[in-house]
Amino acid sequence: NELNGQLRIVIVGHVDHGKSTLIGRLLNDTGSLPDGKVEQVHEMSRKRGMPFEWAFVMDALQAERDQGITIDTTQIHFKTEQRPYVIIDAPGHTEFLKNMVTGASQADAALLVIDAAEGALEQSRRHAFLLHLLGVRQVAVAVNKMDRVDFDQYRFEAVSQEIRAYLAELGLHTSTVIPIAARHGDNIVTRSDKAPWYDGPTVVEALDAFRPQQAPTELPLRFPLQDVYKPDDRRILAGRIESGRLRVGDTLRFSPTGATATVVSIEGWNHSQPIVAAQAGQSIGITLDKRIFAERGHVAHHEEGAPYVTHRLGVRAFWLTSEPLAVGKTYTLKITTGEHRVTVESITAVIDIEDLSSTPAKAVHRNEVAEVVLRSRSPIAVDLASTLSRTGRGVLIDGHDVVGGCIVVEVDEGPAASA
Ligand code: GDP
Repeated sequence: NELNGQLRIVIVGHVDHGKSTLIGRLLNDTGSLPDGKVEQVHEMSRKRGMPFEWAFVMDALQAERDQGITIDTTQIHFKTEQRPYVIIDAPGHTEFLKNMVTGASQADAALLVIDAAEGALEQSRRHAFLLHLLGVRQVAVAVNKMDRVDFDQYRFEAVSQEIRAYLAELGLHTSTVIPIAARHGDNIVTRSDKAPWYDGPTVVEALDAFRPQQAPTELPLRFPLQDVYKPDDRRILAGRIESGRLRVGDTLRFSPTGATATVVSIEGWNHSQPIVAAQAGQSIGITLDKRIFAERGHVAHHEEGAPYVTHRLGVRAFWLTSEPLAVGKTYTLKITTGEHRVTVESITAVIDIEDLSSTPAKAVHRNEVAEVVLRSRSPIAVDLASTLSRTGRGVLIDGHDVVGGCIVVEVDEGPAASA
């Protein structure tokens, strides 16, 4: 995440509240647009018989991608004086929710866009809920289209109070709320003179105040195995360290088996020098002092601060697909590299996105959030999302489709017993 000190952000909010327009403006007003793009947008707007439309900047960038210039179809880059940014998903992108839920787009921070005239609608709340669910804790709110309400301070305060209260209930406290008019560039990069009553940050100032998420090196070690292979006479256990650190000489335990062994060497992909230590965020291979049974999905850790090993776990799930989640159904739960067959034992409650109340239910429908109990035949090495977000979060797969995302909120067994 810290590549070039780059900050990864998502821009969320109800359709038509102005996310694309804000992106167009951010790119333009920070001087991040390639030459000729504004002219292209003029042309696109004219062709469609519309006034200049900033939201078309995204389309103009997309057109470039379609010609194969950029491989990644969802990432948009811009730069402030402070640092580079990447918007890791595009609003309106069909995979947007899925990417958010699967953590394919792990953001450092988020901007929630709300139309001043419409206020926070269900979709705005759902996105805020997802941010919370996915562990994005830095959120700024842009109350957009302030021109539609004549930059009325009282309207702004009303929308602001409402969304602040909702975010606070979710436990997202630090939010900055900014009155903007994306179409006209008010309070994006330049301070607006139409809202003299506002003395908080502009959108760019709010973004620049965010901090990159630190790689969780100080947390307990979690090294989920991706692969075990034998390039020669060595046997290398490969994967990405999700949290913590490990050193040559460390004794590791593997969950769920409980097997232990000592690290003899650490193999890096681009290192000619021997590596003695590695940390969260690095992809490495290790060799051990003895042969143990280990395979993809097993998690290496230290004796202290071991993960849970359980057959039964309580998750908060977000459902993505039209076929509802139901008691008795079986899915594949994928947590980092591990894949486990799980059956839905019970649905404790479905959470109402509007008021965050919970009610019992028999099924969970698309776009609903629910507390669900999953049972697995084989033991699963897992963490609570509140302590270790990477190994405490998973996706539910049906056939080949990702059908939901979930975070682990409850586990009823302890760490692995010694083998
Ligand atoms: P998205 O669906 O959230 O990406 O929304 P868009 O960026 O496509 O904007 C939806 C519509 O709102 C477009 O017609 C925009 O021109 C319009 N819009 C966006 N920002 C503003 C604004 O600040 N003021 C007004 N009056 N309209 C805006």
